[in-house]
Amino acid sequence: MESFHTDHTPLPRNMIENSMFEEEPDVVDLAKEPPLYPLEPDDAVYEPRSSRLLVRGLGENELDEEEEDCESSARLLGMSFMNRTSSLRNNSSYIRQESNGSCSFPSARTLFVGAFVLLVVATVAMVIYFLPKCNFTKEGCNKTEHSVEPLYPISTNGKIFPWTNIRLPRNVIPVQYDISLHPNLTTMTFNGSVSIKMKILEETRNIILHSSGLSLNVKSSKVEETHRKISEMLEYKPWNQIALVFPEDLQKGQTCIVEIEFSANLSDTYSGFYKSSYKNKNGEIRWLAATQFEPLAARTAFPCFDEPDFKATFLIKIKRDANYISLSNMPKMHFNELHDGIVEDEFENSVKMSTYLVAFIVADFKYVSKELNGTKVSVYAIPDKIDQVEYALKASVKLLEFYNGYFQIKYPLQKLDLVAIPDFQAGAMENWGLITFREAALLYDNTSTVLDKQRVTVVIAHELAHQWFGNLVTMEWWSDLWLNEGFATFMEFMSVQSTFPELEVNDDFLMARFKAMAKDSLNSSHPISSSVSTPEEIEEIFDSVSYEKGASILLMLKSCMSEDDFQNGIIKYLKKYENGNTKNEDLWESMSKVTDKTSSISRMMKTWTVQKGFPLVTVTRNGKNVSFQQEYFQLSVDPKNSTISNSLWQIPLTSINSTCSNYSTCKNVYMLRYKTETVTVPSEVEWVKYNINKDGFYLVDYGNSGWSELINLLNKNHSLLSYQDRACLISDIFALSRLGRVSIQQALELTNYLTVETNAPPVLEAIFHFNRIYRLVEKRGLWMLAGRMKLKILSLFGNLTDKQTWNNDGSLADHRLRSSLLKIACTYQHQTCLEKARHLFSTWKTSRNNMSLPADVKSTVFFVGAMSEEGWDILLQEYSESMSDAEKHKILEALASTPNTTKLVWMMQDTLNGGIFRPLDLPTILSAASKTLSGYLYAWDFVKENWDLIIEKFHLGSFTVQDIVTQTTCEFSTKAHLLEVETFFASQKDKGSQLRSVQEAIETIKLNIQWMDTNLKALSGWL
Ligand SMILES: [Zn+2]
Repeated sequence: MESFHTDHTPLPRNMIENSMFEEEPDVVDLAKEPPLYPLEPDDAVYEPRSSRLLVRGLGENELDEEEEDCESSARLLGMSFMNRTSSLRNNSSYIRQESNGSCSFPSARTLFVGAFVLLVVATVAMVIYFLPKCNFTKEGCNKTEHSVEPLYPISTNGKIFPWTNIRLPRNVIPVQYDISLHPNLTTMTFNGSVSIKMKILEETRNIILHSSGLSLNVKSSKVEETHRKISEMLEYKPWNQIALVFPEDLQKGQTCIVEIEFSANLSDTYSGFYKSSYKNKNGEIRWLAATQFEPLAARTAFPCFDEPDFKATFLIKIKRDANYISLSNMPKMHFNELHDGIVEDEFENSVKMSTYLVAFIVADFKYVSKELNGTKVSVYAIPDKIDQVEYALKASVKLLEFYNGYFQIKYPLQKLDLVAIPDFQAGAMENWGLITFREAALLYDNTSTVLDKQRVTVVIAHELAHQWFGNLVTMEWWSDLWLNEGFATFMEFMSVQSTFPELEVNDDFLMARFKAMAKDSLNSSHPISSSVSTPEEIEEIFDSVSYEKGASILLMLKSCMSEDDFQNGIIKYLKKYENGNTKNEDLWESMSKVTDKTSSISRMMKTWTVQKGFPLVTVTRNGKNVSFQQEYFQLSVDPKNSTISNSLWQIPLTSINSTCSNYSTCKNVYMLRYKTETVTVPSEVEWVKYNINKDGFYLVDYGNSGWSELINLLNKNHSLLSYQDRACLISDIFALSRLGRVSIQQALELTNYLTVETNAPPVLEAIFHFNRIYRLVEKRGLWMLAGRMKLKILSLFGNLTDKQTWNNDGSLADHRLRSSLLKIACTYQHQTCLEKARHLFSTWKTSRNNMSLPADVKSTVFFVGAMSEEGWDILLQEYSESMSDAEKHKILEALASTPNTTKLVWMMQDTLNGGIFRPLDLPTILSAASKTLSGYLYAWDFVKENWDLIIEKFHLGSFTVQDIVTQTTCEFSTKAHLLEVETFFASQKDKGSQLRSVQEAIETIKLNIQWMDTNLKALSGWL
């Protein structure tokens, strides 16, 4: 699966913060300072609760509520909690105290009562401790925390459920599914039947499998061709499990076939078998049904063994109206005309695959196709957008050819369909033979930018790589999801760099590594290979650690091997485990076998997959002696894991230095294995740059003098270092300043050379950090400082910005610089930029039917246009009429950046009401609004007030919910906001408090506070 983030820039990474101010400036400033944009009279109606909270102070009402909760808990649980309540209230009613403040000696009666109370408390504590972790209901212990096994799960009918683990037993395995489905696009329901052929591996009386939200009816069951009636079917809903109970034991080696009929509503979320719609050019609403099963939703479409290592073959039949088409993983074998205009399509029996890869679609799509070595590649879209699929077809064919050659295993199916779905939560999904995409990730036309084209290409490359990594060879369990996603992410960059070098995706990979390190430096991160079991844990492992960090450590491994060895290792792995499932070790073992250093790769790579975080290498040079020290890069101490500081990595330290800085001939490599090591080098050098081109997943601290040497080098002759290394130095020094290891002054000093920088990655990395700091300062209400910061940033990039043209010329890097620099100049109110953008918007406004803006500058022009009432209205109209999803995305961001909060609130509400905007627009709107001073509190308030709807629509833990949580909170930097975010999520209990993204949000706010407390003075000095 490819996640879809709300903008194409790296996710907001987390800042470090602290201030020299004792008080919380924004608590008062929001009340007395005028906002940058004057509020309209109507705006008062929409004052977000968050802003009221800030103006009031610490939100007394919320505290009162918490105290009340605390007190009622105390009443329920006994006096042990009462003292806590009383201390919260500073109320002495439960503590005897003399008026002079000294304690009186307790009486014998008091001592007796006290001892009795202590005894009761101890007894209650022991009972609670030793009880099974159950929630008692009238049905008994029927729901527990997912990670704890209940002793006796109770089925929905009150009987004991015969299985006690969230994972299915391995005593029965599925071999073949025959599935027949009939989705009804009028009643929005579906019904069907599944016949599952299973092999009995161990004697058992029960077959346990998954089903969720389906009405079930067991139609027949056979054991070795003999009818054998099932005595009963039990269901345990918390784990989506059903048990087919036989009257007598099934014997090892027997074959069992069970046929089950089922029915349900088509889902109105974006997972399972769900309904979707679009409006055609005539304004008619057209309905369709599509699937998204990864990770846990196949069970909502048909009963199945819904875990990745239960691979089986699938024969699928779909009934549809004659004026629709149906698609599934395999080519269509034949179709039968039934009755009343209903047609049944039958697809070929599938290759052996996991349930999460099964897919089917019923829609009225059109397609174009092309043949490649016996595989028919087709791209589908709604009829009105069929003219936007040509590029995707061309790119798919080229990339398929690349993978067939690189993996030396031919794509095994006769067809490969790529389908653009109007409502699709992820970026894309790699269903075998039927890859589904969000429209913006597959369609491309003349209104799209080169960056849009790059995104389409990369997403296709990612999903095609999955046809091998994921589909042909699959991780055994979601704990090793990175084997799917890390590899697909790595291959997407590698394959596109080879087949479409003009798209310069290696630069994106570099930026992706910065992003992954920022996320991995938080305590809320996790090892690449992590134990997961609950649905939320499984959903949340689809994150940048599995994707980008996974890809990054593969790049690091590749940089330690020859190209051929790396490729041969991959081929060996794929061939050995073809159609099977794997764990981490299997990959390292295959990679080790192609080199003469058996097991060294395995030993090295394990240190990167089973440990959370990454190392910081501190280098100390003393003449010819160079000392290295490695430690865990930890932004804040994890109180739950004190041993993590003992982590050790095997680090391939690469370097170049002043005596030889030729990248192709002078690369030094040293494997750092221990906590500290010292080496002697042939000669003293003026400067050294470690971690060449940021190929390794570690940070380097050069010490005060080492950094000074590098800063001098950048100022004197920055071109001696590659632009990747310059970007790396910027990224590293800002990260180290977060840790307090390098002063913010030194970090800012390093950026002074940027006045002569012309390459995109260093410029974009610096803009990212400046922008985040600027927005934190602005949202603290520190207008003077924010104003000076704007001027400084504009002057730093002034020369480069002045050189930007308002057209579509140049390389991809030129496009990227143009888009970013013009957007930042206009956002920071640069007069020349604003005038040019207003002029272009005005020209476009009067002749938009005949004129197209240069694609690269559209975002900026729309952003400026949306600042006025009239411009906003015109853009809204354009949004509702445009057939280009890429363009709509740019308009949506501009509309949501409006200073008019009435309009913003209306937009957010409209997504839920299903008006002009759709629910899937909400994450983009929230993200854009969260970046603005006028909108960020409204965005957060909206999230709080609509949290139940958000998690119902997008699923707890999904990357959409991860994005919403982190993006709407990542620019908070006050204790009031910290308290509010903590209190809100704590109150959600199992509807959010357990999420990793919530831990990340809270940790980020704390780091923001810390950074502001520490660095504002130095920042002010630099300006
Ligand atoms: Zn993927």
